[in-house]
Amino acid sequence: MHRFALSFVALLALSRARAQQPDPGLLSTIRAIKAIDNHSHPPALTATGQKDDDFDALPCDPLEPTEPALTTRPDNPRYIAAWKALYGYRYNDADSAHVRELLAAKQRAKAAQGDRYPAWVLDKLGIQTELANRVAMGRGLVAPGFRWVPFVDALLFPLDNSSVAKYTPDRKIFFGREDALLKRYMTAVNVSRRPATLDAYLSQVVTPTLERLKREGAVAIKYEAAYLRPLNFTRGDKAVADRAYARYTNAGVPTDAEYTAIQDVVFHYVAAEAGRLALPVHIHTGYGCGGYFEIAGSNPLLLEPVLDDASLRKTKFVLLHGGAGPFSKEIAPLLMKPNVYTDFSEQTWLLPTRELARTIRYWLEWYPEKVLFGTDLSPGGSPAIDWEEIGYQTTTSARDALAIALTEMVNEGEITRPRAAEIAKMVMRGNALRLYGWPDR
Ligand SMILES: [Zn+2]
Repeated sequence: MHRFALSFVALLALSRARAQQPDPGLLSTIRAIKAIDNHSHPPALTATGQKDDDFDALPCDPLEPTEPALTTRPDNPRYIAAWKALYGYRYNDADSAHVRELLAAKQRAKAAQGDRYPAWVLDKLGIQTELANRVAMGRGLVAPGFRWVPFVDALLFPLDNSSVAKYTPDRKIFFGREDALLKRYMTAVNVSRRPATLDAYLSQVVTPTLERLKREGAVAIKYEAAYLRPLNFTRGDKAVADRAYARYTNAGVPTDAEYTAIQDVVFHYVAAEAGRLALPVHIHTGYGCGGYFEIAGSNPLLLEPVLDDASLRKTKFVLLHGGAGPFSKEIAPLLMKPNVYTDFSEQTWLLPTRELARTIRYWLEWYPEKVLFGTDLSPGGSPAIDWEEIGYQTTTSARDALAIALTEMVNEGEITRPRAAEIAKMVMRGNALRLYGWPDR
């Protein structure tokens, strides 16, 4: 009996190990697919001493520091693999003398490529086009490699934000940034002071801003609202919102209920306008940075009133990060709604490959047409582990995870091997091409 128990355990361990091995043919097919990266924050090239501050509207680095999750710590072996793949690194360690050699090699690549350096990196990562979620584009970030996704959260908060900024130390920093961005947006559409009524604000600031963003190359718009309030948007009470806006437009601070009504009305208006302008709406869901991030408020199920709003069915919603962390499973049934998509960006760096494969498999078992590849690569804060290395880590882990998920589905009789190859192509590029209406080149 004892011996039987042991061999059963051994067998189980063996089958688990097997289950994690992707089909080599499928893996090499997936590695060869030129990807569309649905979400990223690539840095612009800057002159020495200059800082690129536009890579995120709400960057994490000014916040009180928190411990990085295991996968993002510098000892992740994929970073050494990145150095080898990108810069010909010859070592299996991160010895300081070796890393100095690496930095010199990186400098040589940058000097040789010049303004083409970001495109050169994308090519190394096997990415054809990357949606760059930035306040503004910058040097080196040019089409067709990079396509712009600007932020629209600032439009939701047109009044005095001192009360909502008090909620946490992080929100104090974030609302300072949103105030500055709204000013920048208003200046760009020649509005020097806050319009007197909510309707005037919508027609003189919100619509012209969305039209300007589209004209200047935006292919989608992005909310990271979960950093600023819970995602429980509704249509809002227009009468309450109108009254509150008019009352506080010159001075004073709205109550939470009044301000929420205004935010909800603006959110609904922006969503409808985005439908008219054919700009898919990206919404951050799941885990976010900062020790005060309200995880419960990032649950994608909170968006159901928006996703079920019949007047918004012409608007496409992309639930970024697929509820990363606690809410991956909640995403899958939401993909049933015809205008709802998701990507596994952020999960690529937050989770180890095996766990990412579980997420991807679960979604593919529901709606494979709605699942998009995404990296969420961003500047890394160190010259040795920067956006290039994070790009390598996220793209290779994502491709491995997709291969594992599809291999398991084939082995367990859920799909055929040819269908697995088809789904791989859909996830890596085809679904995004269809969503954004781009030709397959
Ligand atoms: Zn992001």
